[in-house]
Amino acid sequence: MTRPSIQISASRGRIRYPVRIAPGLLDRAGALLRADRAPGSVLVVTDRTVARFHGARVLASLRRSGWAPHVVALPPGERSKTLARVRALCERWAAWGVDRSVPVLALGGGVVSDVAGFAAAAYARGLDWYAFPTTVLAQADASIGGKVGVNLPGGKNLVGAFHHPRGVFSDPDALRTLPPRALRSGLAEVAKIGVIRRPAILDGLRRLAGEGGARWALEGPGRARLAGLIRAAALEKAWYVSRDPDDRGIRRELNFGHTVGHALEVSQGYGRLTHGEAVSIGMVAALRLSVRAAGLDPAASREVEDLLRSLGLPVGLKHRPGKMFWRALARDKKRGRLRTRMVLSPAIGAAKTYELPSLTPLRGVVLSLVQKP
Ligand code: NAD
Repeated sequence: MTRPSIQISASRGRIRYPVRIAPGLLDRAGALLRADRAPGSVLVVTDRTVARFHGARVLASLRRSGWAPHVVALPPGERSKTLARVRALCERWAAWGVDRSVPVLALGGGVVSDVAGFAAAAYARGLDWYAFPTTVLAQADASIGGKVGVNLPGGKNLVGAFHHPRGVFSDPDALRTLPPRALRSGLAEVAKIGVIRRPAILDGLRRLAGEGGARWALEGPGRARLAGLIRAAALEKAWYVSRDPDDRGIRRELNFGHTVGHALEVSQGYGRLTHGEAVSIGMVAALRLSVRAAGLDPAASREVEDLLRSLGLPVGLKHRPGKMFWRALARDKKRGRLRTRMVLSPAIGAAKTYELPSLTPLRGVVLSLVQKP
């Protein structure tokens, strides 16, 4: 049975698009776009790994529906989230004579949707774009909500825009080729949604972890459970985005675990830890701080920590973080404010943004993450 699509609806209907999750959507890419506009040229942005696994069938589907695809494949991974890549992409489009009538199709994980979406926002002051996410992380989270952008050496996602896609089309079959590390990384963002808003998601993840390993979730009977969890997370993400499309209020709760997570990514060098791994460690920090500063039951915090560990995610640090980390943490937190703003969870499923008088308690919590040899 096909389940109805999730709808993003915000700003009194000015932002409105579907998030569809169904097997086989990659093979229907051409028809899905044609349902929205007349076929012509389409700018496919992907990465080389995704192109190898899934490019041919997406291109075949586009051509069947009368589209003329022009493809750019980025090197895979976080290191492609740079202004240089966006510039190269835009220059290629300019050389092809692309004007504002030509849409972009982002085929890949969160890196591809962030880069392609940002280039789409900037080129000719805005091209329409469609997201075909191929990782758990991008299907559950990154492709939804219109936040697009790239990293600077001094800060994660520091250059970006809000530019919503015209549709998000998630094909669970695309996940079959996902390496286990990328699967686990995505589960961290799914767990985050469980912690901040929907504890039932944590129960589902516990079952997933108990029933089998990564392969079981990608190829075996665990696929249905994984697809259900992705849908549940996407539904909650859509809830946040629809209420707060500009990320000025409640949507900030989605940053749970990202304060420490982003500082780890910046200070260790992009791509050493995956985004999900960094968020996993960041969530443990946020949970421990929630115990100290927001009254979270320590047992509840430990249960989530155990869950993350059982999913194969990191929950601690091998070494004491260095200067770069503390600098990145302070920068992430201050950004023009006197007090430290951070999302904490006084109870599982009920996150809130707090203004903390200083970074000192967070520092203590980060040091508690350093694993004893
Ligand atoms: P990613 O795009 O780098 O993908 C991870 C790896 O999986 C890559 O090597 C990629 O080539 C490979 N891959 C992708 N799909 C595959 C498939 N189907 N089969 C085989 N290999 C495949 O990383 P990600 O984890 O998807 O996304 C992380 C990024 O998302 C981070 O940069 C993060 O900041 C961003 N993000 C953005 C938002 C947002 O709202 N814009 C939200 C959360 C995260």
